[in-house]
Amino acid sequence: MSIAEESKDLFGFLDELKKCTECGEMLPLTMFAKDSGANYYKGKCKPCTKKHDDQLKELKKKHPPPTDPNYCCPICERNAQKILDKGHKVRWCLDHDHNTGEFRGYICNTCNTGIANLHEDPDVLQNAVNYLKEHNERIMD
Ligand SMILES: [Zn+2]
Ligand SMILES: [Zn+2]
Repeated sequence: MSIAEESKDLFGFLDELKKCTECGEMLPLTMFAKDSGANYYKGKCKPCTKKHDDQLKELKKKHPPPTDPNYCCPICERNAQKILDKGHKVRWCLDHDHNTGEFRGYICNTCNTGIANLHEDPDVLQNAVNYLKEHNERIMD
């Protein structure tokens, strides 16, 4: 029996490990908070979540959210009114570089979720652009 199997027998918690999306460590589930109201665990471990929240708090102090009603999301270029017209809530999200901790800007909630779903990876986003453009070109032909 391997050591891993043996300790699994002894402690039975090896199945209960989860990889943190931030620090990449395999950690016991107790190190992860559950999503509010949902029954699944957050991707980031508690220490990483705390670090992330602290970073955001600091950045928010230095860069307060836009109050100008004409402020436009730098990605979708919608201002608060246009976002409301679409039936979305106006919530400017402080966007920052997770690697360097640097402030990038305020973007709308929709774009924030959008780029997060595409892993904030410019290559992946570029692929999405190419994919959509190719499709449009096919339609034009
Ligand atoms: Zn972590
Ligand atoms: Zn946007």
